[in-house]
Amino acid sequence: MKNISVIGSGTMGNGIAHVFAMNGFSVALVDVSQDALNKGLQTISNNLDRMVKKETITETDKASTLANITAFTAIAEGVKNANLVVEAATENVNLKLDIFRQLDQNTPADAILASNTSSISITKIAAVTKRPEKVIGMHFMNPVPVMKLVEVIRGYSTTNEVTQTIFDLSKKLGKIPVEVNDYPGFISNRILMPMINEAIYALYEGVAGVEEIDTVMKLGMAHPMGPLQLADFVGLDVCLAILKVLYDGFGNQKYAPCPLLVNMVTAGKLGVKSGEGFYNYTHGTKDLVLAAAFKK
Ligand code: NAD
Repeated sequence: MKNISVIGSGTMGNGIAHVFAMNGFSVALVDVSQDALNKGLQTISNNLDRMVKKETITETDKASTLANITAFTAIAEGVKNANLVVEAATENVNLKLDIFRQLDQNTPADAILASNTSSISITKIAAVTKRPEKVIGMHFMNPVPVMKLVEVIRGYSTTNEVTQTIFDLSKKLGKIPVEVNDYPGFISNRILMPMINEAIYALYEGVAGVEEIDTVMKLGMAHPMGPLQLADFVGLDVCLAILKVLYDGFGNQKYAPCPLLVNMVTAGKLGVKSGEGFYNYTHGTKDLVLAAAFKK
């Protein structure tokens, strides 16, 4: 394992490229436009600067990390030497199926194809390739350079050998991998999203206000962030999409998204990224939230 291609240079993709490059891997970062790539590279540079300031890494480490990353707008070019591809493009099932068809055609036959999807079935993604045994979920958490967990999702056909390779690789990145099977929401979102949905129901039914709900969960359950603030951070549209995956996948009423969440998404109140969700955010707050996470 030396050459890693990362598809998508957004929130997750640039973080994934950052950690691989910092650990000495050669990273090909692929996105649809040079503009998106520039933004991703700038974020990596800013996050490395924070680490230099904190004295976690040196200026030389920063320079070698950046030197390990090459940017591509053409997917075929960016994945042709890959030992592993980690796909972190927009959470859209048809887009991901299309990307995996292209990955299957353009990567070496022994390359492992991983997806960072939060909710789309790995088995479904694997089924559009001719190598379903080499397709796996590698679900990093946000912000990637800070969060230790990698949820490793085995699709129906994923082999033990491929799972072991991803486990070993995650550990090399300083992460802690956990193996789960491919069912809707995996473990992380199957448990997190019903909690967030219940918090929204409690607000909707007038049981308590936003700050009260978050304070109970922070002080009472030792959660670092209340569920409503966390929902704002994840994105309310993302929360809604994942709840729909759970609802469709299990056919159980307990996963039905709260009407208040549906209304807020329809109204464009998406949380931090739109400037308003359960809380109001001034421009740049998302950076401040990330900066706070890096300080820990
Ligand atoms: P994002 O919107 O920040 O970034 C997505 C990037 O993918 C964009 O830069 C976009 O231009 C690029 N893209 C779209 N189509 C592409 C294509 N055909 N080829 C190459 N690049 C393409 O999204 P994100 O938050 O980084 O999420 C990416 C993935 O990670 C999703 O599957 C999401 O579910 C998952 N995820 C997100 C989080 C989170 O907190 N944001 C956490 C865990 C997992």
